[in-house]
Order: sequence, then structure tokens, then C-alpha cells
Amino acid sequence: MDEWQQQHRRACGDIQKLKQRFGLDDGVDAVAGRYPVRISEYVLEQIADGDDLWGRQFLPSAAELNDAGAPCDPLAEERLSPLPGLVHRYRHRVLLLAAGSCFAYCRFCTRKRMVGCAQMAVSFGELMQALEYIAAHGEINEVIISGGDPLTLSNALLSELLQRLRRIPHVQIIRLGSRAPAVLPSRIDATLCALLARHQPLYFLTHFNHPAELAPAARQACAMLVDAGISVVNQTVLLRGVNDDSSVLGQLFHNLYCLRVRPYYLHQMDITRGTGHFRTTLEQGMEIMRQLQGELSGMAMPIYTVDLPGGHGKIPVTPQYVRRLGVDALLVNAAGIEVVYPQRNMET
Ligand SMILES: *Cc1c(COP(=O)(O)O)cnc(C)c1O
Ligand code: SF4
Repeated sequence: MDEWQQQHRRACGDIQKLKQRFGLDDGVDAVAGRYPVRISEYVLEQIADGDDLWGRQFLPSAAELNDAGAPCDPLAEERLSPLPGLVHRYRHRVLLLAAGSCFAYCRFCTRKRMVGCAQMAVSFGELMQALEYIAAHGEINEVIISGGDPLTLSNALLSELLQRLRRIPHVQIIRLGSRAPAVLPSRIDATLCALLARHQPLYFLTHFNHPAELAPAARQACAMLVDAGISVVNQTVLLRGVNDDSSVLGQLFHNLYCLRVRPYYLHQMDITRGTGHFRTTLEQGMEIMRQLQGELSGMAMPIYTVDLPGGHGKIPVTPQYVRRLGVDALLVNAAGIEVVYPQRNMET
């Protein structure tokens, strides 16, 4: 077994240990029964106390059970899923949910309803069926490999998957999203970089939310990928109490840019059940973007996007797509479909 696999196995999912070490209240027992808890050793080492940026992102909180009124699948991924493990929302791109687990579970995850659950585990047979679907749909020119975290797959399986994708002539671009550089940087080693570099054009999508996540090991992971010739871009989730501050985000985006990692998206938190305590308003996100405009190099500016409820797709949060803000914001997608984005407190 590779060193990273051993580390992955040693990840902490023991709620009693976490309660003791970080003084979590008893409310988290029920949370752990509802949503899986898993924290990589690497992340565990970074948590100084439950209220720091690491603790808030990865330690379970009783607040996760407070917004039962919010939908479990706000993006209607299940309706847009022709086969298990595949989401086909845009004509030319598919999302391939190739892995059901992650190195550490982010408490704000959009797929909180299923990450780490048996329901999300993708069998080899299902993966092969997904590949057949992609092969049969000539309009698909890009496959986004996500999950869960696809780097939890063994190199052998990942290599097999990439090779099979590359045999489909109309698949031009492969994008692979992984949080490993932030939460288990040792996963990014020379073997993996060489494996990925054999399947160009391949974009590696990292997920960093705070400048402090760019620790030396994480920086090295990014550098290895870029040095292997792989384009690396980043997505960030706007998180109340973690990074909802223009100076924090400005530093993150600038530091990523220095690492040759291009900030791509800043995501508005989806209205996924169990994540209400992380949500900011659209107004706050727009104000942060306004403060960063001109301060940052244009190359370091991500697009602030919201994924519209109901599976209507992502749009930039700019006046062109915003009919009105406020409690029941009204947004419009590129096709002209108007969608309500509720901003009232969803606690019931
Ligand atoms: C976000 C997303 C994509 C990728 O969208 P881009 O705007 O190309 O980054 C594709 N499919 C689904 C289902 C998505 O949620
Ligand atoms: S790494 Fe991604 S898929 Fe996994 S829990 Fe975090 S946000 Fe969700």
C-alpha cells in the first residue's frame, strides 16, 4: 500500500475522540449519525481549536441539524443524472462522480447528502456504464472527474479510467477536481503527476478556501503539478466565519496566483440542507468582489458564481443575472429562466 493510502486509512472518524480533544458538545453525536465525519491526520494536525478556519470547516457542529427546511439536493443533480455517478446538465460537459468518499469531509459540502455514504460508492461496473454513456454522446467534449474525491481512487483505477476516457475521440478535455492538495498533500507525488501528465489536456481543479491552507506541503503539491506541465486552477467556497472577508480572500487569490494556480470560481454556498450556518448573502459576496476589483491582478480574480437551485446551472453573480436581491432574490440564467434564490433563514 502506498504511504498516502495508509494515511488515508488512519483518518479520524471517531466522534468521541474529537469531542474530547476539541470540547465539542453532545449535539454532535446526532450530527455524526446523520452526516459522516472524517478528518485526515494532516488536517487534524492543523486544527488548533474548534473555532479556527480548520475546525470550522471540518469539525461537526450541532448547527448542521438546524436547517431541516433546506433541500438535500438543491442543484437537482439526481434529476439530471442519466446513470449512477453521472450528472449531465450542460450539453458539452458531464460531471463524473467517480469516487464516493474524501480524505476529509467538509461540513459545507454540496453533496453532503451522500458523500461517505454507501449510496455514493461507485462500482467498477457503474463506472464502465458511465463511460459507455459518454462514448455514445458525441456532444460531450469535456469530462469533469469529481466525487467525493477522485484521488481517493488507487493509481491503478485512476489510470484505467483516464485511459478509457482518452480512447473516446470526442472527449477533448479532462478536468479533475480534488481537495487533496489542501487536506492530504502527500497524495500529490511524482507517480501521480506522471500519471496525470500522460492524459493531457488535463486541468487540475484544487479547492482552497483560506490562505492558511497554503501550508508548505500544499504549496509543494501545487508546484509539483504545475512543474509536471499540468494547468492548475482553483475553486473556493464563500464561507461565513471562515473566509467572508475581502482581505482574507484577496490574500488567498494573490497567493494562489503566485503559486501558478489560477483562481477560477468563488462559489456562493449552495442551499444544501445542513449547511445554513456557512451561508452568506449574495449581497455580501458581491461587496467582497467589489472590494477586490482593481486591488488584485485580473488574473487573480475568480468569477463569483451561484449554482441556481433546481438544476438551472451556474451564473456569475453580476447585475446582468440578478433581477433583484433581498430575502427572495430573483436570478436569471443565460437561457432567460428566472429562479428564486431564498435568502431567509431556513431554520425550522
Ligand atoms: C459546475 C458544473 C460543471 C462545470 O461548469 P463550468 O462552468 O464549465 O466550470 C459541469 N457540470 C455540472 C453538473 C456542474 O455542476
Ligand atoms: S472534498 Fe469536496 S466532495 Fe469532499 S466533502 Fe469536501 S467539498 Fe465535499
